[in-house]
Amino acid sequence: MTENVILGLTGNAGLRMTGDVVLRLTVKKKSGISLENKINYQKELEKETKKWSELGVCPTILLHCCCAPCASYCMEYLSQFAGLTAFYYNPNITDENEYRHRVSELKRLIDEMMREKTGADTKMDGIGGNETGLSAGMLPGNRIDFMEGEYVPERFYEIAKGLENEPECGRRCILCYELRLRKTAEEAAKGGYDYFTTTLTISPLKDAQVLNHLGQKLAAEYGVKYLPSDFKKNGGYKRSIELSKKYNLYRQNFCGCEFSRR
Ligand code: SF4
Repeated sequence: MTENVILGLTGNAGLRMTGDVVLRLTVKKKSGISLENKINYQKELEKETKKWSELGVCPTILLHCCCAPCASYCMEYLSQFAGLTAFYYNPNITDENEYRHRVSELKRLIDEMMREKTGADTKMDGIGGNETGLSAGMLPGNRIDFMEGEYVPERFYEIAKGLENEPECGRRCILCYELRLRKTAEEAAKGGYDYFTTTLTISPLKDAQVLNHLGQKLAAEYGVKYLPSDFKKNGGYKRSIELSKKYNLYRQNFCGCEFSRR
């Protein structure tokens, strides 16, 4: 039997946690968000990309990236249609060495993907700031830039306070998604991007319904479009594993925060 429990999330949204720890945002009049009906967000994404092709446009996307393995397929897929900036903002990775290793793997991946696309050396030096993988003669849709957010793990500890013993996919995780998506939405609005989105939906361990609803909520707040996705679908997750092997990417065995390491 499934027991539903309504849990507070933020001021105007809530979570319903079922006995088997599947999370759903509840319908809340103020938030305008409903999770009553499951939506296929991969299909929603395909509708958007089809629209771009029909209009002959190449939008810009700020793509929040959690790590190189997850970003690999998302970048391969989206760069067919759009100009990307891979945004590394993950204050939830509480071990600094782990954080540095993941960011350097993402940069190496972008270097290698860009070198393959262009035949040019696009090596990115140092960490932080905007760095471009664009080479002369490239189509904008092939472009993948890199941007790193501020690394302040205290931001994560603030939202995780009192939720240290939550299971993965519990309330701490939803607030952690929101922390990272909120910063991405803010930067996307500031930078004049057409869309923002996240690689987090590629993980079979993360609920795409929750992530997409958070994205839509933040889109309304910041006045920038959220690109819906469920990257794990249509063989996306499988492809990310193939790409991880191809580029010999570091694949961590825990999500990121110290509480996910136990
Ligand atoms: S387990 Fe992962 S998603 Fe959950 S709080 Fe930790 S780092 Fe964030």
